[in-house]
Amino acid sequence: MTQSFSQLSLSPLLERAVAEMGYENMTPIQAQAIPVVLQGRDVMGAAQTGTGKTAAFTLPLLQRMMKHDNASTSPARHPVRALVLLPTRELADQVAEQVKLYAKYTNLRSTVVFGGMDMKPQTAELKKGVEVLVATPGRLLDHIEAKNCVLNQVEYVVLDEADRMLDIGFLPDLQRILSFLPKQRTTLLFSATFSPEIKRLANSYLQDPVTIEVARSNATASTVEQHFYRVDDDDKRGTLKKILQERGIKQAFVFVNSKLGCARLARSLEREGLNTTALHGDKSQDERLKALEAFKSGAVDLLVCTDVAARGLDIKDVPAVFNFDIPFNAEDYVHRIGRTGRAGASGLAVSFVSARDARLMGDLEKLLGKKLELEALELEADKRPAGHFNDGQRVWQQPEEAREQREIRESRGSRPEREARAPSSRPPVRPARAPADPLFDKPYEPTLSADATPSWETAQKPASRLSPNIKPRKKVPALFKSAPVAENG
Ligand code: AMP
Repeated sequence: MTQSFSQLSLSPLLERAVAEMGYENMTPIQAQAIPVVLQGRDVMGAAQTGTGKTAAFTLPLLQRMMKHDNASTSPARHPVRALVLLPTRELADQVAEQVKLYAKYTNLRSTVVFGGMDMKPQTAELKKGVEVLVATPGRLLDHIEAKNCVLNQVEYVVLDEADRMLDIGFLPDLQRILSFLPKQRTTLLFSATFSPEIKRLANSYLQDPVTIEVARSNATASTVEQHFYRVDDDDKRGTLKKILQERGIKQAFVFVNSKLGCARLARSLEREGLNTTALHGDKSQDERLKALEAFKSGAVDLLVCTDVAARGLDIKDVPAVFNFDIPFNAEDYVHRIGRTGRAGASGLAVSFVSARDARLMGDLEKLLGKKLELEALELEADKRPAGHFNDGQRVWQQPEEAREQREIRESRGSRPEREARAPSSRPPVRPARAPADPLFDKPYEPTLSADATPSWETAQKPASRLSPNIKPRKKVPALFKSAPVAENG
């Protein structure tokens, strides 16, 4: 049953702001959380960004703070009453913006503090007095230590994206911050998962919380044609090129899991004559902006990027998205392919699955709630059959290959080995989730004219003066010897 905001009896000042934002009905997390927070209960919420969770905690907190609403200019009349902690500056900024919008007709003040910025303007804001303080943990501690804010009147604390805060290693900072706060308070914790660490955090800091879980919208758009190809690492580049050519794709995003992998792939595609640019966390904002503009203007055809760099990119309706690597976090798959096939347009999402991706594919199947069929792609040199993942053990099965190996071993008289390949060599860590980058806010508008020819259709392999038997000397081989590093790792 849909529930409307009017049923909540919010202050008319808040109702007006909600109406202005065009919202009439509450999202599921709002319908469940708002009444509970209005009652003053602690909440442990399983909800992700995109579910309307910001309003789910902001509106009831503002409502409860309305008793402190006053027009006084004195900072003392505007002590911090609500503290919202988030893992990244982008998320903090996003939440702070929403808080401002919901509070715009009240006298309740809010501000945001996060690292990487001059502390002075933040200090000036804090000194003026704010009721709602949105912050990342590290920078908040800096301000606490500098005595720029007093937290002894905090009544509400929100730990938003708590799993990501723990991933990033913010637990000690969180513990310190919480130790400065009054014990009598309402604490709300939101997390995408309820891992044992999150439960421990909740047990330590929440009192008799109400648990709220909302279904995640992990559905991928039905207009996206999705393919999972079984490709060995060495064949990925060739496969990418083949698909681009055969499908007549004009532009594409290519996602990789590490910064090094991103830079390396972009360079080698460039060497092969494809107009490519890389976008990853080590690039300066200026370089990233230039890369993006080059892609939007059609000067480059392929944007090779990491999840971190692409997270805040509001580029929509890219003709195709390639997952050169299967993402470490299954949710990132949904984010990645959400860039194609929007608004009824058809899109193509191609994922390259290598044998060691069994565990990640398992995570993805779980998240999407369906079995993902692996296809074989006929590359001249590679006519191996498509395999599949054995459900029980999450091991890669290639029936013929396995049988051949067994026969060889048995013919040698060795003990038949039944051990399958290791499911995955990747460590079972969840890398820190990615920050958004609000820098890029324009949707993708291809300026490439319809008959423009992408580089993979015209490019010859650049003429090499070297004999094909001599490999060119790598300039920085040592850099690439180590295993790829997760962007935030
Ligand atoms: P959040 O999960 O808080 O990041 O919200 C995701 C998006 O949903 C934001 O753009 C909100 O402005 C929007 N939103 C929040 N509440 C509602 C609602 N009741 N109806 C429609 N959109 C909403």
